[in-house]
Formats: sequence, structure tokens, C-alpha cells
Amino acid sequence: DSEEALLARARAIGAEFVCEPESVAKGVREYLRLMDKGLSEPGQAMTMIPTYVTAVPNGTEKGVYLAVDLGGTNFRVCSIDLHGDSKFTLTQAKTPIPKELMTGNSKDLFSFLAKQVAYFIEKHHSQTIDAATPTNFLKLGFTFSFPVDQVALNKGHLLRWTKGFDIPDAVGKDVCELLQKEIDALGLPVRVVALVNDTVGTLMARSYASPGKSGTLLGAIFGTGTNGAYVEKLSRIPKLKKMSEESGTKFDHSSGVMVINTEWGAFDNAMKVLPDTPYDRALDKNSVNPGMQMFEKRVSGMFLGEILRNAIVALMDHGLFKSAHGTSIDENGPLFTAWSIDTSALSTIQADYTSEYTLTKQLLEQQLGVSAATTGDAMAIKTLVYGIGKRSARLSAIPIAATALATGAYENYKKAKADAVPGQEVEKIDIGVDGSVVEYYPGFERYLREALRDIQPLVPGAAGLEDAIRIGIAKDGSGVGAALIALVA
Ligand code: ADP
Repeated sequence: DSEEALLARARAIGAEFVCEPESVAKGVREYLRLMDKGLSEPGQAMTMIPTYVTAVPNGTEKGVYLAVDLGGTNFRVCSIDLHGDSKFTLTQAKTPIPKELMTGNSKDLFSFLAKQVAYFIEKHHSQTIDAATPTNFLKLGFTFSFPVDQVALNKGHLLRWTKGFDIPDAVGKDVCELLQKEIDALGLPVRVVALVNDTVGTLMARSYASPGKSGTLLGAIFGTGTNGAYVEKLSRIPKLKKMSEESGTKFDHSSGVMVINTEWGAFDNAMKVLPDTPYDRALDKNSVNPGMQMFEKRVSGMFLGEILRNAIVALMDHGLFKSAHGTSIDENGPLFTAWSIDTSALSTIQADYTSEYTLTKQLLEQQLGVSAATTGDAMAIKTLVYGIGKRSARLSAIPIAATALATGAYENYKKAKADAVPGQEVEKIDIGVDGSVVEYYPGFERYLREALRDIQPLVPGAAGLEDAIRIGIAKDGSGVGAALIALVA
């Protein structure tokens, strides 16, 4: 009957999202290739940006540090007291950024930011101020989530504004210096010592809080976007020598490593290995940056809802919402408006195990403008959601596997395991993750781990890899992570 035909069609669309073991393995091989390319030559799409952070914390760090975060509608100021036992206390204040400052001039914006820092230390750290001498400064880490060309740990030139900001005179300037100048104008005992990317913050925060002693290998964000930062050997970053000479940046070589911000959202923009469906192609065509961030467009929260919308629209030609039960659709509603399905809807539907799909029907009614959908409709939509969500999680295994292999972290683990006496625990490779998709999408880590197991027989050196990897949530990269970078600065 017609419901059977609808479900068969939904399964066929769902099958287009299936990401076979060999596809994941191909992804890992291509990722390894692009990783090496990005580490050798500047200007690659997967940029592999040296951050000049040359150590990750191990949880014993102590002290009070400031962190500020400018990235969207709010400006956050916090202080972090690191206790030295993987724990910390965080005090914070959040202020909305006045609209007119987002499109005015740089002096007005940065003096506003400096004033927020002043209010904050007056309220929470007046004693620190009193004790401050010209040589006793509070160190501040500046999380700035706009594209910058970072040339040193505390120096980065703004490339362009995004997210509704437009302050032309700031473009090309060093944002740390802009902030420092206004802090100095207020006479505050504060030094901007680090410019922080949120992914690097995630890595640092996890490394401080993780149970292990040898530090975290990789910090990864699966939120609005996706990106990762990891610890790389200096000997594997051929482009670094030339880059640091050109910018005149000196850094501490003693650890032999540097944190690399991968910008893996741009992995495989050339589309050699990533899966592609009509629903992905429609999304890309409709996006502000066609042909760019192709990995991110299959993985992260900003996009999964729109992939689902495209697939739902396709299914409407095959009997979806066409039952005789009086199902009706708002023709001007979210289903017909690009980018209007939030990715949290996928989590809600995936988690709906009620026998009549009550939660899915409710969501259709309240969020998607569909009233009186049938159980068959809901089942068909859940089939699509399952395909899209599982593919996102399986693709997320690609950079994780490749990083563990390329850095030698997995080789080291195997050696340690071989050398261990019976019963001795060998520390796993630690990965810190953050973002609503990995945190809330049901089964995300399970599907990711399945994909890691799937590639074990297909990628050289990967046998046993999944069991060697520990994944943990990294909380508050832009706060504690920024403080930790200020500490190592
Ligand atoms: P950001 O990455 O912007 O710092 P988040 O980690 O909260 O912030 O990610 C926001 C993204 O996560 C949005 O694209 C949103 O659609 C998506 N999202 C929010 N809630 C959920 C959820 N419960 N399940 C899956 N995705 C979600």
C-alpha cells in the first residue's frame, strides 16, 4: 500500500547516506595526504595553522588567569583559578555587545571591551589589583572567533569580520594590540599574552582536566562548525621554519612539538572521497560559500538540519504527508524555507522511541508546520534522520583516526602496550571533544567508534586502533582553555 511505498522510498534515500567502511578508510588515507600537504606548504585549504603553543597542560598547573571571549553577540570576561589537581574555579560575567559598536570604529569597540575587563577585576579581583606592581600583571588569554592571520602567540591580524560585525578600520590590525592599548589607557594591570582559537582552547581545557598524565592529543569541536587542533612534532611541520622566519616569530623549541589548528572543516574541498548526495549538492549550492568547508557541510550542526530538509522535500514527491488523515503543511513554513530546521530536531527525532512516534509528530507540528502527520510519515522521517546523523558521526572518525596514526601516537601506544608487564594499565590516546552535536546527538560516539573499528583492517597500522582511543567532553575551552594558553605563554 501507499505507506509501504513511502517507507521503501525513505529507506532508499536513507541508503544514500550510508558511509561504507571503505569510504571511511579512503577518507583517512586522503586526510593523511592533505595533512602532510598542509604541514609542508602554506595556503592549502586544510590550512594546518601553527599556533605557537608548544606544550599542553597535565593538570598540575596553578594560578589565577583572565580570559575574554569575543565571538558573537556577547562578550565574556572570566577569571580562572587553577587548583593544580585538574580542577578549577571559574568566575564570569557576560555582556551583550551594543549593536552600534559592531559596525562603528575599532577604538569604541575595544575601549568598551577594556571597560568590561575593568568592571570585572574591580568586582572580583580588587585585591589582585591592589597587590599589583608594574611587574605583577594578570595574564589574559583572548579568544577571538574571527579569521585572523596569527603570527605569534599574542599577535594576530584580523583578516575580515563575520557574524554581523563590520569595523573596517580594524581589518589588518593586530587585535591583541588593539585590546592592550585600551587596557593600558585605563591603567589596568593586565597583559594580553595569548590570542586563542576556540579549538586550541578545547585541546588545552581537556588536557588539564583529563585523567591521564601524558596530555591530550587532539581537541575537536562538533558544534555549529567542526574543527580540530592537535599536538604535532616540529619535525613534521616543514613549512614552520620559513613561516616563523618571515614573521620574525621566535618560539620555544624545547618540547619538540607545536599545537596545529587544522581547519579540517575544509577537508576534501576537492571532493575526491567525501560522500555526495543530491541533498548535499542542493545545500552547497544554496550556501554562502559553495565548494568550501565541504567536510563541515556533512558533519556539523549548522548543516545537518538543512540536509534533512532537502531530503524531506524529496520524500514529499513520494507520498510523505499525503495520507487521507487530513495532514496539512504550512506552505510558507520551515519545510519550504532554507536553513530553517535546527539540528537539535534531528536529536529529538533520533531519540524518539515512543511506539506512535509522538515526539516526532509533536516536533513536526510545533517546529516544522506539519499538522496531523501519520505514524508512517514520522517513521519515514526518522529513517532519513538516522542516515544523516550516522553519516556525520562516521565521517567524524576520519580526522581522529588519521591524527592518531600520523602523529605516531598509536605507534607509541602499541609499544607501551608491548612493554607493559601483565596487569599494567597503558594510558589511552586522549581526545577532547566539545559542541552540541557530539554532546547531544544520540549515539554519536558509538557510531564514530564503529567507524574506527571498520577501518582497522583497511588502513595500514590501524589494527586495534579503536580500543586505544579515549574520548571525553572538554568543557569551556574559551574560558579555562584560554587561561591555560595564557599560562604557557
Ligand atoms: P557553537 O559551536 O556555536 O559554540 P554549540 O556547540 O551549541 O555552539 O553548537 C550549536 C549547533 O549545534 C547548532 O548548529 C545547533 O543547531 C546544534 N544543536 C543544538 N542543540 C542540538 C542538539 N540537541 N542536538 C544536535 N545538535 C544540536
